[in-house]
Amino acid sequence: QPPLDPLPIQRLHESLINRIAAGEIIHRPASALKELLENCLDAGATSIRITVKDGGMKLLQIQDNGCGIRKSDLPILAERFTTSKIKSFSDLSRLTTYGFRGEALASISHVAHMSVVTKTKSDPCAWKTCYSEGVLVPPKAGQTPDPKPCAGIDGTTIIIEDMFYNTPTRMSALRSPSEEYARILDVVTKYAVHNSKVAFLCKKAGSVTPELSTSPTSIDQAIRLLYGHAIGKELLHIEVSSSPTNSTSRPIGSGDVDDAEKWSAKAYCTSPNYQAKKTVFLLFINHRLVESSSVKRAIESVYSGVLPKGAFPFVYLSLEIDPRSVDVNVHPTKREVIFLNEEDITERISDAIQQVVSQSHSRTFQYQT
Ligand code: ADP
Ligand code: MG
Repeated sequence: QPPLDPLPIQRLHESLINRIAAGEIIHRPASALKELLENCLDAGATSIRITVKDGGMKLLQIQDNGCGIRKSDLPILAERFTTSKIKSFSDLSRLTTYGFRGEALASISHVAHMSVVTKTKSDPCAWKTCYSEGVLVPPKAGQTPDPKPCAGIDGTTIIIEDMFYNTPTRMSALRSPSEEYARILDVVTKYAVHNSKVAFLCKKAGSVTPELSTSPTSIDQAIRLLYGHAIGKELLHIEVSSSPTNSTSRPIGSGDVDDAEKWSAKAYCTSPNYQAKKTVFLLFINHRLVESSSVKRAIESVYSGVLPKGAFPFVYLSLEIDPRSVDVNVHPTKREVIFLNEEDITERISDAIQQVVSQSHSRTFQYQT
């Protein structure tokens, strides 16, 4: 066979580039929701209400009572790389917000219909806008795309409809609405534990009883409420840090060189009286929900010493380390993280868990004998 003639190389159309890029960031309704939740928390919200239709494919609406968005910022809100959270590269090393890339809303606007209702404290009324492919669009044919005044309370509501209507491959990769809804609930539940001072509500559109509803409480109470009494009554508390003697002197990440070595961890984990079929592991590093198979493995091996074969624990672990020593989900889809001194830190945490778990174990043992 003669060699094929090469096909011409062509520049992709910008809207196609954006749509492909958006699909890389927004995999499914739950990944969009994670981004939106983080925006609410960044905006200082103390109440977050989520409404979902068809597993988030038909509708994903998230309302917060945070700082709102200035009307003058609305035209560039859904543009790529527009953010209020950093100004310079060095801001990245003292990041206190989840966001900084300015990509989430832009991405969503490329794969769904997005509208926003927002009101700042000083605005006399709320403003409503609609977006498509990064830019403002008229809500209805014949109207202008400018923000429309409307009634509304302080805060922001983001409404996402018909997710992946223009990306059939993404759409076909989705599971059933009930499975997508389960993933949404899982994300909300984990954030509701970690942000136990924030009230969360998650429900299906049209239903009166929410699947999830919390009011401000402590983390262990939130675990009890959201993961059930069987876990709640067996929780053991752990706190470990790099330098227990003066760990409160300065906040981690305040910029000094030796901060890179500082870390602190807080955990709630179940005593051996609780035995699940698989490990439930909530890991937050610098308040981000992440995954680390090496940390998980280390903790599971502690429990394998005290639990019968095939039984697993519930573990919530919140680790704070210098932002410079962790490659936090610098990319939104990058959930598995690695961090500096990972082995040492993991060992200290495992040892601490080992200690409380075996103490509680021997106590149970004594009671039984
Ligand atoms: P990033 O969070 O990385 O800045 P996003 O695309 O998620 O990028 O959001 C862009 C900007 O929109 C944010 O920097 C913020 O100023 C504003 N924003 C988004 N969501 C909210 C919200 N719920 N409340 C207030 N401001 C918001
Ligand atoms: Mg964001």
